[in-house]
Amino acid sequence: MNRPIPTELWLICPRCHADCLDRQLAKNEYLRCARCGEEIKTPFVGRTIPVAWALSSTGLILMVLANIYPILSFSIAGNSQENMIFTGIAGLWLQGYGLLSALVFFCVMAAPALYLVTVWYACAAWCLHRRWRGLPTVLTIAAFLESWNLVPVFAVACVVATVKLKTLGSVRWEVGAFWVLLDAIFILLTIQYFDRKKLILYVEEEHL
Ligand SMILES: [Zn+2]
Repeated sequence: MNRPIPTELWLICPRCHADCLDRQLAKNEYLRCARCGEEIKTPFVGRTIPVAWALSSTGLILMVLANIYPILSFSIAGNSQENMIFTGIAGLWLQGYGLLSALVFFCVMAAPALYLVTVWYACAAWCLHRRWRGLPTVLTIAAFLESWNLVPVFAVACVVATVKLKTLGSVRWEVGAFWVLLDAIFILLTIQYFDRKKLILYVEEEHL
């Protein structure tokens, strides 16, 4: 005789709401919805949200440090200049590259900061078991901003730019470069550990 499966063993697909039977996952395995193919569970579920919370908190602190210290100093013919992220963006603006400067501002400052804030907010709500307002919207914003996070690209671009600048004068890395690099790593790790699907399920279960 078939005994009914206890309800806690069922997971609900966040996309099509089909019931999916939960099971233990081995490393590198993940559970997909049989109906629509949506990925429902990854092996380290549960652990990821507190980790993402810690990573996004650190990422936000590093973001501040990366923006208040100069990244590199450049000297040509006796004139030396220290450059921060913001002075670089302002420089582009003053030279008439308005659109480019807006794009760099969005991808290197605004989008990563807002992404980390949305991840922080969602993870904090989950970890503290709070029914904070606007969680569905926050999750949508986080999903949108994830691909606009170009701090790692910016870090590589800085290295490429110094190669060119070295032909014109002398270039020296400053402490801000270290913070930018560390921030890029923490943002990538946050993306890796942020379990958005689990939070979508949480929002649905709590009717937020
Ligand atoms: Zn589904």
